[in-house]
Amino acid sequence: MSQSADVVIVGGGVIGLCVALSIAQRSRLSVTILEKGLATGEGSTGASSAVCRFRYSKQEMVELARDGIAGYQNWADYLKCSSPLGKYQRHGNVWLGLNRHAYEGEVERLGKLGVRASYLDDAALSELYPALNRCVRRPKFETGEAHVCRGGGRHLLEFDSGYMEPGDVLVDLVNACRAHGVTIRFRSEATVIKQSGGTVKGLGLADGDRITTGVIVNAAGPWCGRLMLAAGIDNPWPLLPTRVQIVQIDRPDGLEGNIPICADPASGIYFRPARDGHQIIVGSLLEKDEREHITNPDSFLRLADDKFIREKLFALERRIGKIDYSKTIRSYSGLYTINKADVHPVIGPTPLSGFYVANGFSGHGFKLAPAIGRLLAAQITSKSLPGDPQIEPEFLAFDRAPFRIETNSVLA
Ligand SMILES: Cc1cc2nc3c(=O)[nH]c(=O)nc-3n(C[C@H](O)[C@H](O)[C@H](O)COP(=O)(O)OP(=O)(O)OC[C@H]3O[C@@H](n4cnc5c(N)ncnc54)[C@H](O)[C@@H]3O)c2cc1C
Repeated sequence: MSQSADVVIVGGGVIGLCVALSIAQRSRLSVTILEKGLATGEGSTGASSAVCRFRYSKQEMVELARDGIAGYQNWADYLKCSSPLGKYQRHGNVWLGLNRHAYEGEVERLGKLGVRASYLDDAALSELYPALNRCVRRPKFETGEAHVCRGGGRHLLEFDSGYMEPGDVLVDLVNACRAHGVTIRFRSEATVIKQSGGTVKGLGLADGDRITTGVIVNAAGPWCGRLMLAAGIDNPWPLLPTRVQIVQIDRPDGLEGNIPICADPASGIYFRPARDGHQIIVGSLLEKDEREHITNPDSFLRLADDKFIREKLFALERRIGKIDYSKTIRSYSGLYTINKADVHPVIGPTPLSGFYVANGFSGHGFKLAPAIGRLLAAQITSKSLPGDPQIEPEFLAFDRAPFRIETNSVLA
């Protein structure tokens, strides 16, 4: 079967869906999404912790996070739909400090970018979140030995951080895309990129179908490298699908007060409440836990390793007190795509005219997605709307130079 579309988006994860919706909301272009899975959520998005926090080292990334999170905070308006499933769960994000000078200047820097934040000393932290231990010392993972806790850190609270349930977001985006006339084809894997004279002409699908188009967006998440190969693009970016592990437990009985979203550099973990506060999700902040690069994104271990589970629960227990190990402990792994050159994504046109990329989001693509959708839609349609990100598109462009960065971890 042969069809045509003005724009074909390869990948029905949160990025592809947001790009499609934003194009459909601002133009009359016909848009088709190709998703090789039976449903959305089979890639990174389905496993995402979906933490929406603002603090990044680069100003432009703070702006993109702010604009992306604004999309979730005003979700019905973003979708142009009156009753979405997804609801932004605002819990605040606490960055625990390692000393009394921690996060120097950050409240002011974030404030200038429209992000509300405040410093907390130990007393303020305990008043807001009594369950959190204020200790600044690293747990002895190697031995599991107890240590004498020491406080005295300065902590940073981002008031408006939160999370969304990724499954709800995907359902809402599929519905909104369809309501805006976007065609979504499941079980449709793009395998061939047709081109002539350096310009995109169409795609071939695994089932033999063909689609004629002048614009293709690579939103294939961990599979993005395959599509670039199919396009024959000279890709300078090492975009590596990487296995990332998560542990999920029931909230221990007797825990006092709210658990915020928490970044805990001393213990190397982050955690957040889940399922209306009845559960807690724990992940890693450490670069050492982001080194398992996967050659075939269709085949990787979906559970977390025992060692990972033990280590992260030990770290969490030190932070929130006794965990009930008799209750069910769930674990899973997902893939995200790390740009090994500088852990920042690449977004925009490529040397193959009509072929756009939105790839390499590491652990940040969920919060950024509503903003990335608008950023790329503005580039593809040459039409801007109020609410579009104001960063220069060159900032994350495919032909940019790699950034010099201090850390290669998820905290970059
Ligand atoms: C464990 C984990 C925790 C995370 N935590 C956070 C967090 O707290 N905050 C945050 O902001 N981000 C987080 N992320 C990152 C975030 O989830 C990702 O950056 C984001 O989901 C990427 O979305 P995507 O649409 O690019 O990719 P995906 O969701 O992977 O979507 C790509 C889709 O493309 C499809 N596809 C691939 N190739 C083809 C093809 N050839 N033809 C058709 N379809 C194709 C795939 O089936 C897939 O559905 C986390 C990720 C993981 C794995």
